[in-house]
Amino acid sequence: MKKSILLTVTLLLLTSCLLPSRNATSTPEPVPSTFSPTDLSIYKDGLMPEYQGILNELPYASIYQIEFKIAEDLYNISGSETVIYTNAEDVELNEVKFRLFPNILGGNMHVDEVLVNGKAIVPNYTLNDSLLTVPFETPLQPKESVTLSMDFTVRVAQSVEMNYGVQAYSDNVLALAHAYPMIAVYDDEGWNAEIPPQSGDVTYADMSLFLVTVDVPQNVIVAGSGREISRQDNGNRLTVQYEAGPVRDFYLAASPDYEIFTKEVNGVTLRFYTKDYLQEGAEYALDVAARAIEIFGERYAPYPYTELDFVSTPTYALGIEYPGMIAITERIVAADDNYLEATVAHEVGHQWFYNLVGNDQLDDPWLDESLTQFATLQYFTDEYGQQGTEGYRAALEGRWARIGMENIPIGLPVRDYSDQEYSAIVYGRGALFFEALQAEMGSEAFDAFLKNYVTNNAWKIGTPEVLQKTAEEQCECDLTSLFTGWIYP
Ligand SMILES: [Zn+2]
Repeated sequence: MKKSILLTVTLLLLTSCLLPSRNATSTPEPVPSTFSPTDLSIYKDGLMPEYQGILNELPYASIYQIEFKIAEDLYNISGSETVIYTNAEDVELNEVKFRLFPNILGGNMHVDEVLVNGKAIVPNYTLNDSLLTVPFETPLQPKESVTLSMDFTVRVAQSVEMNYGVQAYSDNVLALAHAYPMIAVYDDEGWNAEIPPQSGDVTYADMSLFLVTVDVPQNVIVAGSGREISRQDNGNRLTVQYEAGPVRDFYLAASPDYEIFTKEVNGVTLRFYTKDYLQEGAEYALDVAARAIEIFGERYAPYPYTELDFVSTPTYALGIEYPGMIAITERIVAADDNYLEATVAHEVGHQWFYNLVGNDQLDDPWLDESLTQFATLQYFTDEYGQQGTEGYRAALEGRWARIGMENIPIGLPVRDYSDQEYSAIVYGRGALFFEALQAEMGSEAFDAFLKNYVTNNAWKIGTPEVLQKTAEEQCECDLTSLFTGWIYP
């Protein structure tokens, strides 16, 4: 997630050959009812060929099957979820924890009929009902799987006041982030769960596989994570099915006002779902996204999926990242907007830093936000040369200057910063750390380090320790004092 950036780079309006289209995809066959959730072949076509092998390498990933039924009003939703959860830890687990984010994002979520391997259990609710704990009668052993299922209803907030309006129905657009019972991450701290501060991202998630059915009023255009695999028009209702995975989350946006603009780059289909009066800005954003995919693909690793979808929403943030999807606030979708290019490049960068390589976004926000701000600097360097570097660096310094360039560490959890510090340090000073690291290591070693960090940690969770170790291995040098000066208290 990001806030405002003062951008001094001259915007270069690229020519484009985009056509509006209402036809998102053309594969009308529904998934057969005999479909087995553990048959992962359905996810293959959503991954670029060089990444398809990952489907054989994530035996413990959670497998979600979700149904959303969205009412005519577009903010009342009912649904059901079945998830196969496997204990990927080396300790037995007595329970599994689900986040119910609508209960802390201004709306509400109610869960019913919780079953463990078909047997009803009584769950326990904490953290303002945003954490559902499902106890196991007998502990789940390492590598053992369990099938959990539940029904749910969600009433989505009708304002964008909470957490930038990531989950809201406003201005005829439904932004449906984290709107299903979402399994929390178990790591060396145990189960990760807290009520997230208003200023940062709210989730921390492992790679999972999703098969999602969305039932919406027929006049609504939906955009979901992953790849549309079937579409059925039932008269006044429409049923659309998506596969997404491996991804860290499933996101959906819907509006009767959406038009779709498309572009192709390196075998990736880019789409922008937005209102027709924003066409020029949307096409410009797709041009920027295409360049960013080329630049980051060259610098870090190829983009993993066959699709990347943008949606415009009324969010308070400039942009918000989701796996294979990006929300951009409606108010900057204009080709001459000073924030659009940097916002698009930043959010595309998150596809590498947050999704492909994950991180604890609440405890280590710098691992995705500072690194993504640095990726945006690299985008401006590669796109505009020295002038691009200097312009964007000035924007980063300007951000840090808002708190007088105070040497606050960049490696704190979101909760330890004030809102102003969070923006200035994690989004400003944090990116400048990577420039300092580049200067210390030398450009060649630094470039190799970033490639290695992405390649070695793809589909996993990166940590500050792993990032430092990867850099030190590459430069064959001790970076302790540099990291201590910038990252740690
Ligand atoms: Zn961000």
